[in-house]
Amino acid sequence: MMKFSQFNSFFNYEDRKIGYNAFANDFTILDPELYEILQAAVRENNLGELNEIHPEFYSHLIEKGFLVNIDEDEIEKVKELSRKVDFGNETFYQLTINPTMNCNFKCWYCYETHIKASKMTNTTLISVVKLIENILVERKKLETFHLSWFGGEPLLYFDKTVKPILEDIYPKMKERNVNFSSGFTTNGLLINQEMLDSCRINGVNFFQITLDGHRERHNQVRYVSKEKGSYDEIVNNIHLCLKNKFKVSVRLNISEETIEKLHLIIDDFIILDDEDKKYLNFSFHEVWQEQKDINDDVQKIVNLFREKGFNSIYKGVNLDTVRNSCYADKNNHATINYNGEVYKCTARDFESASKEGVLNQDGKIEWNEKYERRMNSKFKNPPCLSCKILPICNGGCSQQAIEHEGIEYCIHNFDESKKIEIIKDKFMYAIS
Ligand code: SF4
Ligand code: SF4
Repeated sequence: MMKFSQFNSFFNYEDRKIGYNAFANDFTILDPELYEILQAAVRENNLGELNEIHPEFYSHLIEKGFLVNIDEDEIEKVKELSRKVDFGNETFYQLTINPTMNCNFKCWYCYETHIKASKMTNTTLISVVKLIENILVERKKLETFHLSWFGGEPLLYFDKTVKPILEDIYPKMKERNVNFSSGFTTNGLLINQEMLDSCRINGVNFFQITLDGHRERHNQVRYVSKEKGSYDEIVNNIHLCLKNKFKVSVRLNISEETIEKLHLIIDDFIILDDEDKKYLNFSFHEVWQEQKDINDDVQKIVNLFREKGFNSIYKGVNLDTVRNSCYADKNNHATINYNGEVYKCTARDFESASKEGVLNQDGKIEWNEKYERRMNSKFKNPPCLSCKILPICNGGCSQQAIEHEGIEYCIHNFDESKKIEIIKDKFMYAIS
């Protein structure tokens, strides 16, 4: 006996019905008549009859995960998957390092407190290297190591902190036969050819660089001085990275003010040749202070970028927070702040009171109770357990779960139409 999966959703696309199962993370395209037959069978609780009338369709629905065994505990399946993703991967480790909390920009929405004199001491730098050495020795099954640079603006201390660490550990990665990759979350202003040359020989392959809209808007937000914006220099530096075959994800921060001219960014990248474009993607994010629902406007622009051949990621593709959970949710990740304090989430403050551990001089992390709380935070929000997109959402991330402890919440405001928007975007991406 089969049952209709909890994780099914349907929406209209042109003259078809599109079905999506969030656990299978797969679509089916149905004629409206078939969809009606299915709905009637579900309403009348008579899937057996559907099998008799239309056995092929019935088998197709099973194959695609829309019908599951009646005894199947669908929530348990998602829990198992999530445990496997967050706790079961011994072959991978991701370390994030904040070389500084200082930044050369002052963006209005930046949640981090810039700490002018913040930089890593030599003692902390040595402890970081020891930590990495320990990971290489202790994690026998380790195959892949990813090192992320965050901050503050990590490139402010490229020569003092980043380069010495990379030069020390990269040969060790090769010696141990570990696939090493490394990337920067940066505002992109300080990138130059010499830096890229050094990055290339030390295993760096990725940059995430933010634009706050097209030139005029970006320059109002991201500037070194009021007279001097940064848009053109940053766009040139992105081109430079692409020419040097570094992957670049351009994060587009969007607010209501940004939207009008956002499409003009296309003109600054369409000139790239196809080879360079292969290394580029655009990732669209509404800034968290945006109150107005601007989804439709953003979606239109995303579609335009996609039509022009740019790999463009919006909320639908971004939302896959069970299979692709945040690094902070996983036990094979740590964020080391410039002062040796250890965190998980990189999207909140790095105040000492929020630290989840400390890095000792012998290169060991001592986690505290905040870490334990994070690692046990998932599957405690009742609305998620009955939600049709639980397998791709589950309340977002561990940080969301912690911040809503004891409060029922939905990161999509309990709005079913928002969930459909996400699924539709996934579909549009799949067919783009
Ligand atoms: S807010 Fe959530 S998704 Fe973002 S870094 Fe923190 S834990 Fe990860
Ligand atoms: S946060 Fe909302 S959309 Fe996400 S799984 Fe929970 S109830 Fe569903």
